[in-house]
Amino acid sequence: MSVVTARRITVEGVVQGVGFRPFVYALAARYGLAGWVRNTASAVEIEVEGPAGAIEAFVGDLRDEQPPLAHVERLREADALPQGRDAFEIEHSLDGEGFQPVSPDVATCPACLREIMDPRDRRSGYAFTNCTDCGPRFTIIRGVPYDRPNTTMAGFAMCPRCRAEYDDPRDRRFHAQPNACPDCGPRLTLLDGRGGPRPGDPLREAGRLLASGRIVAIKGIGGFHLACDATSESAVRRLRGRKGREAKPLALMVAHLADADRLCVVSTEERRLLASAARPIVLLRARPGAGIAPSVAPGLGRLGVMLPYSPLHHLLFETAGATLPALVMTSGNRSEEPIATDEADALHRLSGIGDAFLLHDRPIYVRCDDSVTRVAAGGEVPIRRSRGYAPLPVRLPFESRPVLAVGAELKSAVCVTRGPYAFLSPHIGDLENVETYVSYRSMVERMTALFRVEPTAVAHDLHPDYLSTRYALALDPAVPRVVVQHHHAHVAACMAEHRLTGPVIGVAFDGSGYGPDGAVWGGEILVADYAGFERVGHLGYVPMPGGDRAAREPFRMALAHLLRAGASWEPDLPPLRASADAEREMVRWQLDRQVNAPLTSSVGRLFDAVASLAGVRHRARFEAQAAMELEALAEGLVGAPYPIELTGVAPLVIEPGPIIRGVADDVAEGTSAAWIAARFHATVAEAVARVCERVRASTGLDRVVLAGGVFQNAVLLDATRRRLGPCGFEVFSHHLVPPNDGGIALGQAAVAHARLERA
Ligand code: ZN
Ligand code: ZN
Ligand code: FE
Repeated sequence: MSVVTARRITVEGVVQGVGFRPFVYALAARYGLAGWVRNTASAVEIEVEGPAGAIEAFVGDLRDEQPPLAHVERLREADALPQGRDAFEIEHSLDGEGFQPVSPDVATCPACLREIMDPRDRRSGYAFTNCTDCGPRFTIIRGVPYDRPNTTMAGFAMCPRCRAEYDDPRDRRFHAQPNACPDCGPRLTLLDGRGGPRPGDPLREAGRLLASGRIVAIKGIGGFHLACDATSESAVRRLRGRKGREAKPLALMVAHLADADRLCVVSTEERRLLASAARPIVLLRARPGAGIAPSVAPGLGRLGVMLPYSPLHHLLFETAGATLPALVMTSGNRSEEPIATDEADALHRLSGIGDAFLLHDRPIYVRCDDSVTRVAAGGEVPIRRSRGYAPLPVRLPFESRPVLAVGAELKSAVCVTRGPYAFLSPHIGDLENVETYVSYRSMVERMTALFRVEPTAVAHDLHPDYLSTRYALALDPAVPRVVVQHHHAHVAACMAEHRLTGPVIGVAFDGSGYGPDGAVWGGEILVADYAGFERVGHLGYVPMPGGDRAAREPFRMALAHLLRAGASWEPDLPPLRASADAEREMVRWQLDRQVNAPLTSSVGRLFDAVASLAGVRHRARFEAQAAMELEALAEGLVGAPYPIELTGVAPLVIEPGPIIRGVADDVAEGTSAAWIAARFHATVAEAVARVCERVRASTGLDRVVLAGGVFQNAVLLDATRRRLGPCGFEVFSHHLVPPNDGGIALGQAAVAHARLERA
């Protein structure tokens, strides 16, 4: 007879709402242990009693197995006193002062998919089917602990059959908070473009409308989509016209992986991302002539593709049959506004865009766009981190004080920290828009409430005019502010993601960020730790004629760079041919008089200048368009770098002149834009390597962090890694949060913590 012992186990991480308690229950049954499991506000607590050997085996399996959606961060054990229990029970949740990570929304699992496609199943054709392994989470949670009354499912009383599933620890739907069926759960309705009811089965009718070239606004998991047939050029053009989206690429949804293969070249890693539970939009290399309307992603050679992630999507493709090869599924908003989430709002804001509205009555509590990701240099590079990813925590290399970091201006996302975790909000959008600013403010409130963070500091960008800065400054004056330089934050974000401490060589290349000298920075090499940085190198300054306008009109940057490089404005050069006399006179005047021509070290603007010189793009219709087109041209080509010239000592200056003269010479010799693009990418990689070598020689540092929006560019990231790796550098780039400003709040938070520690 073995001795009965007892053990208390506390499990932290994403462990609620992911089937963790039934998993524990089943494990206890496996080893014949008595005891209980319960959710607290910050963890799952378990107490088991039984023979010591059985408890050892139980704990071993607890560490090794775990349900698919769980992310265990920490598992602690302590001895307990046996109570003489004879059964294992799932106890009620305890609320308290703790906090805990919340699962992101998760794509429909295979078991649920089988049910909705099975004509004999009671959930056959039911668009709100889910279980503990799948379904909405973050977007429906109003508070913690994660229980049904704290979700937007609170208004749906479960029918007896759903209730029985919910109460049965052996059932796949045990404590699945959004559990529902056609008898008791949310329902679909279809309205016409003016908000009147449309007869017929909503899904079938919506599918029919889509197949006939109409635009349907579809309420989804984290907001509305606007959908249309992606193979119909006229439908896609109509959608662009109504939405006011000129040229920015539109995302596609296809029914199966095989369809993605037909449209694009899909690598193993890309396939894994497409089919992952997060179901992001993955940027894939398009196969020409696959039938996708040219207006979907003009000039880019890549398509953003995702697979169905809710039962509604699966059923839409199923009911429409083979008539729908691919759907445009773009965020349900007018250009630059946040995605719509509630019916009244959608009907109002999307009227005149949607020919019909496919709605449901499950409220969306938190707005969450589709995530966008890509594969570069063999790994994932998030471009927009939102549904399916947020709010999974980033594990920090330190126990952080509670901090709120408010992000930058474009692609904003906010970050709160607590203990070892940083919680980055989903993508919110560009703050210059009033509607976005409203959802930004409510996101701050939701993130602090959900994770029960009372900030001891607020971190914000150095730029005085960012709305995020003004927002931070308007908060409670008793909470200290920490001002973080933009590119320092970029580098710190990448360091935090890799749990690096100590100084690194940080390369932060982007479009723009406020420099302490008042210039527009964006081509920075820093020696940085979390607490501070030294600018050890940068791209040479050049004026931006017209300020922000120069970012929208690359020909202006080409003219400014030519002048700075001492190269004449030859009338044959593409930027001269593409601009009017009056425009050039204005640029010349701005440059000569230094009026509205701030100095910049931006690599983003250098990309613009080269794109214009090479004849690729002179006027951008969306942010970074010129750079994206240049990248598309360079893909697959390896060119020799243009001459690199480093001047100065501290900081080193990468002279743009020799690069610009090299490009202009190539243009004069009739070199193709693709070869110029390839040579230019190699040049930027070479310049990074030369500066890093010089910095290593003087500091001994050999860890290099590559951050900033320019490193979304897969060709550049790959070239830079290939150049640095063999020279003995250890290279780090973003895999968890975006290299662009969407990830910057993480870096701000890390810097704020370090400054508070030092103070
Ligand atoms: Zn499921
Ligand atoms: Zn039911
Ligand atoms: Fe930036």
